[in-house]
Amino acid sequence: MSFTLAIVGRPNVGKSTLFNRLVGRRLALVDDQPGVTRDLREGEARLGDIEFTVIDTAGLEDANDDSLPGRMRRLTERAVEMADVCLFVVDARTGITATDEVFADILRRSSAQVLLAANKAEGRAAEAGIAEAWGLGLGEPLPLSAEHGEGMTDLYSALLPIS
Ligand code: GDP
Ligand code: MG
Repeated sequence: MSFTLAIVGRPNVGKSTLFNRLVGRRLALVDDQPGVTRDLREGEARLGDIEFTVIDTAGLEDANDDSLPGRMRRLTERAVEMADVCLFVVDARTGITATDEVFADILRRSSAQVLLAANKAEGRAAEAGIAEAWGLGLGEPLPLSAEHGEGMTDLYSALLPIS
């Protein structure tokens, strides 16, 4: 059975880098469709022998500050609706922020199955952030480095029961 994974989280945590790694080729950032549809990118992903559809919640980075909270909520809720499982990404280098807490709250209130990833986990600068991510109440954080391709085996193991 195939499934859909949505990558969610605040801007700049590495969602698109992870999307590109999973999809294995670069896709256009946006297409011509307006609104929320334009801000969700879909691709066919492969991890080991698992194939699945992956959704990147793009389109937050260019929002102005006033519209950002609403856009984050709408995009995330839309992605949750479309997905079988959400991969909530935080930045292990900066640690948990107030905005991360907002996302965690949205996800805890939804019926979505949630996996937590602490990205940018390469090197020691990430250790405190990984520990902090436990405090989100979403289970064990998976340390990943989307940029360096680290943690993909653990992500595979986490997705295997869903596939
Ligand atoms: P998004 O806004 O969540 O989609 O984040 P992006 O994928 O655009 O990445 C934001 C920034 O983080 C870029 O400069 C990336 O190169 C960087 N980045 C992404 N993944 C990693 C990682 O695993 N380690 C480090 N150190 N930087 C990363
Ligand atoms: Mg992005």
